[in-house]
Amino acid sequence: MKFLKSLVAAAALGALALSAGAASAQDKGTIGISMPTKSSARWIADGDNMVKVFTEKGYGTDLQYAEDDIPNQLAQIENMVTKGVKVLVIAAIDGTTLSAVLQQAHDSGIKVIAYDRLIRDSANVDYYATFDNFQVGVIQADSIVDGLGLKDGKGPFNIELFGGSPDDNNAFFFYDGAMSVLQPYIDSGKLVVQSGQMGMDKVGTLRWDGAVAQARMDNLLSAFYTDKRVDAVLSPYDGLSIGILSSLKGVGYGTPEQPMPIVSGQDAEVPSIKSMIAGEQYSTVFKDTRELAKVTAEMVDALLAGKDVPVNDTKTYDNGVKVVPSYLLKPVSVGRDNWEEILVGSGYYTKDQITQ
Ligand code: BGC
Repeated sequence: MKFLKSLVAAAALGALALSAGAASAQDKGTIGISMPTKSSARWIADGDNMVKVFTEKGYGTDLQYAEDDIPNQLAQIENMVTKGVKVLVIAAIDGTTLSAVLQQAHDSGIKVIAYDRLIRDSANVDYYATFDNFQVGVIQADSIVDGLGLKDGKGPFNIELFGGSPDDNNAFFFYDGAMSVLQPYIDSGKLVVQSGQMGMDKVGTLRWDGAVAQARMDNLLSAFYTDKRVDAVLSPYDGLSIGILSSLKGVGYGTPEQPMPIVSGQDAEVPSIKSMIAGEQYSTVFKDTRELAKVTAEMVDALLAGKDVPVNDTKTYDNGVKVVPSYLLKPVSVGRDNWEEILVGSGYYTKDQITQ
């Protein structure tokens, strides 16, 4: 009877572990991976790539997605702390909300790596693995400069600006990087923001929501562009670009008489590459999530072995409490001419995924 009871209990525990999406711990212990949402393909790729790399290195993984719900992400991380993971790898939904749970993690001796997005307002963030986020914005703006022919002296042109989620530290880096390129053209009058809406407090898009961007673009078009053309839209993320492009199509852009404005993006998501091939979205930024997973796993390995952790930036990412030592990977500009070479050539996508 006792045996039966413990058998039932063991089976229940097993079911619990399975339903929580936890892989069984291997020799080197379990890594808790907390991702923000499955609504964007990039985070699914990040999660998959990390599970692959950590598994190859002999770790178990507990991968959770929080569907952009902050309490959900907190509960998932708390659960990982309780289960005693060795390291937490977190891409935060809101980078300012994790201080309490990270204190618990620290008190339990768990190390923390901020993944792609900086975790703010906490001393308990050990390392940061990301891309050069300022450079992402520079690439987006450079593509607008090229697309419009601003360097050839063309213009003036009308532009509208979109920012990412104001609770994501990256959004400010993307915006600042882009403005480092665009501001001189705005100052010289070659670019005109007809709405006057500038600065992250005016152009931010909460939770990177494409529907929010689409609604804002609708409003901009009806308030400022009934008798003018918008020539370019700075968009920091493919999911927003798709919403912005639908809004533009809704009022007749995308025809030979009224071509699409130059619209940027980020993440090289499949719908955006298809949109680029169809002559709609102009550019995107490719960030190889395979490389980010690899760097993160190398950080974890070094951290747990007490070795030097690979970093290449110890100045840029101040989280409000400390400068978090970081490893920055290089983002890559993708346009209509080089998507195949960059994305298919590197094996990130198969050609069928894009053309079918
Ligand atoms: C990431 C971007 C992504 C955005 C929306 C940012 O933190 O760095 O790659 O486009 O979040 O998911």
